[in-house]
Amino acid sequence: MAGIVSTIGQKCRRCFSCIRECPATAIRVVNGQAFVITERCLSCGHCVKVCSQHAKEISSDIEKVLFKLIPKGKTVAMVAPSFAASFPNDYLKLPSALKSMGFIKVTEAAFGADLISPLYGKLFEKIDGRTIISSPCPAIYNYIEKYFTELVPNLAPIVSPMIAMGRYLKETLGNDIKVVFIGPCVAKKSEYIDEEVNDAVDAVLTFTELKKIFNDNNIDISSFNEIEFDPPYANLGKSFPLTGGLLKTAKISGDILAKKVIVVDGKEKVEEIIQDVWN
Ligand code: SF4
Ligand code: SF4
Repeated sequence: MAGIVSTIGQKCRRCFSCIRECPATAIRVVNGQAFVITERCLSCGHCVKVCSQHAKEISSDIEKVLFKLIPKGKTVAMVAPSFAASFPNDYLKLPSALKSMGFIKVTEAAFGADLISPLYGKLFEKIDGRTIISSPCPAIYNYIEKYFTELVPNLAPIVSPMIAMGRYLKETLGNDIKVVFIGPCVAKKSEYIDEEVNDAVDAVLTFTELKKIFNDNNIDISSFNEIEFDPPYANLGKSFPLTGGLLKTAKISGDILAKKVIVVDGKEKVEEIIQDVWN
């Protein structure tokens, strides 16, 4: 079965950078080429970034979104908070550009973080000595579920903002709407098809895929008007994906911080802290 990330054989120049860089030793040489072993892959997308030959391919929902979901006339876009970094000059025009594609509403996934942040506050109050691991990144959940199975009970039992928001949209707008998440992260493609949460979101596009759609369809984002996102409006949830953003979003108090909270980011530090908790 093809996974979220695979190698385009014709483009691969056998430099094996991806093999050296993969955090999960999920790439092996098969018939002289770098082959991704789906069962080991975290869908983190790191090999896509390090491959100078653009020989790594991500499973794409572009056709599904353009030709199956949007034509139904009930498809809502949900955009990750980092949209401004991906469209620095035109981010205020993104909602109208997306509506020109046929999305009936354009919403912010950050409201999903506002929905789940009180649950984190309650969880922190009840921790009593246990180590709880939380991250906005599904690749970290994949890493623990595949390689540190003893730590699975330590994962925070709270869905991500994307899943919370997808469920909220379907509850409030009707279960027949389709929801497309648009964000920076390849690993979201593995999250939305997870059988425990696959009721919430119908497709995931990366910002790179969205730019390709704009480019292929002559959609010039700079030519659109600046309009607001559709409600519900996000509050502190906009900070959720930033380092330490969960604490800010959940308004976790100094008392609770005394229970010892460690905030890490970056591939090496995350690997290190997971090893430390595991040992
Ligand atoms: S980094 Fe790219 S070119 Fe190099 S081995 Fe991996 S897939 Fe092939
Ligand atoms: S997506 Fe991540 S885990 Fe999967 S092969 Fe690439 S680097 Fe390795």
